[in-house]
Amino acid sequence: MTRKRVLSGMRPTGRLHLGHLFGALDNWRKLQETYECFFFIADWHALTTDYADPSKIKEYTVEVVLDWLAAGLDPERATFFVQSRVPEHAELHLLFSMFTPLAWLERVPTYKEQRDQITDKDLGTYGFLGYPLLQAADILIYKAHFVPVGVDQVPHVELTREVARRFNFLYRPVLVEPEALLTEFPKIPGTDGRKMSKSYGNSIYLADDPETVIAKIKPMTTDPARVRRKDPGNPEVCPVYDLHRVFTPEAERQAVVVPGCTTAGIGCLDCKQILLKHALPVLGPIAERRAALAQDPDTVHAILDDGTKRAQAVASTTLGDVKAAMQI
Ligand code: SF4
Repeated sequence: MTRKRVLSGMRPTGRLHLGHLFGALDNWRKLQETYECFFFIADWHALTTDYADPSKIKEYTVEVVLDWLAAGLDPERATFFVQSRVPEHAELHLLFSMFTPLAWLERVPTYKEQRDQITDKDLGTYGFLGYPLLQAADILIYKAHFVPVGVDQVPHVELTREVARRFNFLYRPVLVEPEALLTEFPKIPGTDGRKMSKSYGNSIYLADDPETVIAKIKPMTTDPARVRRKDPGNPEVCPVYDLHRVFTPEAERQAVVVPGCTTAGIGCLDCKQILLKHALPVLGPIAERRAALAQDPDTVHAILDDGTKRAQAVASTTLGDVKAAMQI
């Protein structure tokens, strides 16, 4: 039986952290069991915002793939590739740009939001406006059935479906309308309680060895109401408890952590020890695998070479069908 196809990508913007692990990689690892998955490094997408300084993109490409492998993504089951090495994406993007109304792009919510939020870069560019259309090309060129996304990315999948419909209507039905595979992301705060982000310097990376993880968790921000050991706390407002939710079994949280916190039966350091007891057996092996893989960068390059060839075979077939339909 032919498996349904899934496509997802990541921008190479640096080492991956727990936000990526629980927000994407855990899900991708499950998807690779059921679907034919294509996972790509979206280096052209990185250029839409980082065009002025592309110096790290190649290095980060390798870092991200090391993190994927360490987190359990399997290049035997899924196809890993680099977007810019499959130029068919760019050609399809160009062809789509001929019939995509400008208003479709201008109304994508993330376009306006990011233009307003990112003030240190000039995003009044053609590439930035067009990136959801490039994303549509990324998806449609593989005739993907599903795209795993968070709720904020649903409008991008909707745009992709509209592009496919318009193409199929104008020329002939070649493209597959993908569906959003809505993914719920757990809240992963950084060590200072804000969203975990490289730019805040509050991240726990997949590359962090156990000593580093311990050193980051111990001083982590907790419920500010627990000033003294005897003050009761509220796990619902504590970033440490958000991490418990992803690492500590529910039964132990309810039996030990919640009552211990709310009655001041345990201190925050005890609580962090419980978290570490569950987090380190997950994170330690990931960091270890990653360190071993990092010794052998040729393996990463070979995986990407092989995956890129497989991806390109599919992409060039679709592009051939598209061009035939458009009579060029
Ligand atoms: S005991 Fe745990 S959940 Fe409660 S405030 Fe301290 S770290 Fe947070």
